This record gives sequence, structure tokens and C-alpha cells, in this order.
Amino acid sequence: MEKSIFEKIADREIPGYIVWEDEEYIAFLDINPLAYGHTLVIPKTNIGDYIFEIEEAQYSKLMIATRKVAKLLKKKLSCKRILVWVEGYAVPHVHVHLIPSLEAEEMLENKRIEISQEELKKIQERIIS
Ligand code: AMP
Repeated sequence: MEKSIFEKIADREIPGYIVWEDEEYIAFLDINPLAYGHTLVIPKTNIGDYIFEIEEAQYSKLMIATRKVAKLLKKKLSCKRILVWVEGYAVPHVHVHLIPSLEAEEMLENKRIEISQEELKKIQERIIS
């Protein structure tokens, strides 16, 4: 199977702005950042493309690595909080976005939708039934 672009960064086959790594995980700057210091944390090998489908132990280890990187970013960059975001539509190699933030983030605020109490109730029923 062809290596993902992120595996190639981990293997130093293509350049990446690596900020942290251990045996199994690596973190590098997102080249199209949403904020100063926007970082991606990945497992060095491609264990899947959707975070909630990887094995539980792998998930836990990825989150522990993510926490370490978030603490590093918070310490080294002047920010108040590190936001966590997982999407994965573009690159099929599981990764966590860490986005340094100075204040209540506005980037998702304008994506909020108006919803009625009835609709909320319907969604709740759909999920719990
Ligand atoms: P998504 O898969 O939707 O979570 O988005 C993939 C993310 O990877 C985007 O934020 C891209 O800017 C980022 N990205 C794509 N290629 C590279 C690269 N070579 N180095 C660093 N970040 C990248």
C-alpha cells in the first residue's frame, strides 16, 4: 500500500516541520494553519483513517501523545488554550489537530445552526432509541 503523505513526513522522505516525536507518534506543523502553531499529531504508521475506528488501545495512546504535544505547545507558545479538532476528510491517515487559541474561538461560531427544541428532542430520541 502506498504510504500516506503523513507517513512520508514521519519517515523523513518529504519535509515536515516536526515539533515532537517519540517511538510511535510524531507531531508537525500544519502547512495550512488555522492559527499560529497549528499542529498535527499522528501515529507514525498508518493504522486507519477514522479516529473512532482505530483500536481502543491505539486511540488511548494517540490521545496521550496528543496531550503531551498540547502541553508543549501551551508552554512554548503564548496561548491560553489548545483546541482539539479531528476531521480527517483530506488525508487518510488518522491525525489530531491541535490549534493554539487566545480567546473563545470564532472559527466554528459562525457554523452554528439555528435549531428548535422539537428538533433537539427528535435528535435525542434518534440517538437513544
Ligand atoms: P483533514 O484530513 O481534513 O483533517 O485535513 C488535513 C490537514 O493536513 C489540513 O489541515 C492540511 O493543511 C494538512 N496538511 C496536508 N498536507 C500537509 C503536509 N504535507 N504537511 C503538514 N500539513 C499538511
